[in-house]
Amino acid sequence: MLTNDQLAKWDRDHFLHPSTHLAQHARGEAPGRIIQTAEGCYITDRDGNRLLDAFAGLYCVNIGYGRKEVAEAIAAQAHELAYYHAYMGHGTEASITLARMVMERAPSHMSRVFFGQGGSDANETNVKLVWYYNNILGRPQKKKIISRWRAYHGSGLMSGSLTGLSLFHKKFDLPLDTVRHTTSPYYYRRADASQTEEQFSAQCAADLEALIEAEGADTIAAFIAEPMLGTGGIVPPPKGYWAAITPILEKHDILLIADEVITGFGRLGEMFASPSYGLKPDVMTIAKGLTSAYAPLSGSIVSDKVWRVLEQGTDENGPLGHGWTYSAHPIGAAAGVANLRLLDSLGLVRNAGEVGAYLTRTMAEAVAAHPHVGEVRGAGMLTAVELVADRDTRAGFDPADKVVPRIVAAMGRRGVIARAMPQGDILGYAPPLCLTRAEADTVVAATADSLAEILG
Ligand code: PLP
Repeated sequence: MLTNDQLAKWDRDHFLHPSTHLAQHARGEAPGRIIQTAEGCYITDRDGNRLLDAFAGLYCVNIGYGRKEVAEAIAAQAHELAYYHAYMGHGTEASITLARMVMERAPSHMSRVFFGQGGSDANETNVKLVWYYNNILGRPQKKKIISRWRAYHGSGLMSGSLTGLSLFHKKFDLPLDTVRHTTSPYYYRRADASQTEEQFSAQCAADLEALIEAEGADTIAAFIAEPMLGTGGIVPPPKGYWAAITPILEKHDILLIADEVITGFGRLGEMFASPSYGLKPDVMTIAKGLTSAYAPLSGSIVSDKVWRVLEQGTDENGPLGHGWTYSAHPIGAAAGVANLRLLDSLGLVRNAGEVGAYLTRTMAEAVAAHPHVGEVRGAGMLTAVELVADRDTRAGFDPADKVVPRIVAAMGRRGVIARAMPQGDILGYAPPLCLTRAEADTVVAATADSLAEILG
């Protein structure tokens, strides 16, 4: 067996990691971790450290680690048929069954699901389908996509453009010029401190409408949004936000793409978040919770309205010129089927709602009074603690002080993984949906103790 030192050297010498400070990693200055095994909510690294993963990998291992049922379904599929493509109408028992299971769970006005590999490529697919839709309807100029600042929709050329975080644009020549960004529904960071949540929501809606009018509604194809902001800070929408936004989209004939990559399959305590926020999406993005990351798989779910135009398009133009070699990969599909069965049989959607609410409430009780905590917020199994240098001005810390990464490191020493969110002084939590109350207590205690250690 290779030694840890050998692996660490090969890692530094050969592995170009995603979302990583490449130079520091290659020089061995940034602490990496080599993961070996995992069970339930815990991962174990090659140094023998066992850590409670309060971020479920990247908000994706929803059913928890080490589920034998999924591993066995993957093995059985690999033995029977490791691969066949889905082009020209080909399917497998797993991919067809998963399509049926997804559509049984999706809102009733949705029609069909296209399978990809990850959330980024699913959003690339969504934009292409929306463009195709408008070309078939004879309005080729209706192509721009409006996203929001602080959104995260992936890191491809289009999906990275839709993302509204500067880190994902800087030096990459993004966003592409078909993308616009509007006001982020981030009440804590509103420009006008005197606004109520409802007033701020009305402001967001007015900003959106002004942007549509400035660009011309006949040039805007779609509005893309996570029902609740994820990577941009784990921010539930302010009161009245969606009720103010959706009529504007309808009025201007703009499609709604609901990106449910994080929220889909139970994270907010409902199978999907869109219906609970009153949304009726034309297209939905799914990934992460579809397989709980046991295998890479994503999906683009289209509504009846979109589907009818896609059908018309292929009658007029021949087969859809879009697809991936690994679309509906049988191993991913088998993992998805086993995963969704477990999600139901273990009652994990309900648990996400109950234990998630408990986590956010107990977190607030433990840390909200700390002088450097600006806000504790959350919904379902998503919680954030936003830190501030000054509570009155809401000013952040000097990034050079690395306050949040230091707190995350202190939590790691206490055996708990939280995430330093990429933009802002925000601690993020998105545990597996099987988290217990006792495990939530461990997460809260590690946070409170680490906060005290680093900030007093
Ligand atoms: N959309 C949302 C809302 C996400 O949170 C993510 C990833 O975190 C993506 C899209 C991109 O998914 P992937 O990393 O699988 O490409």
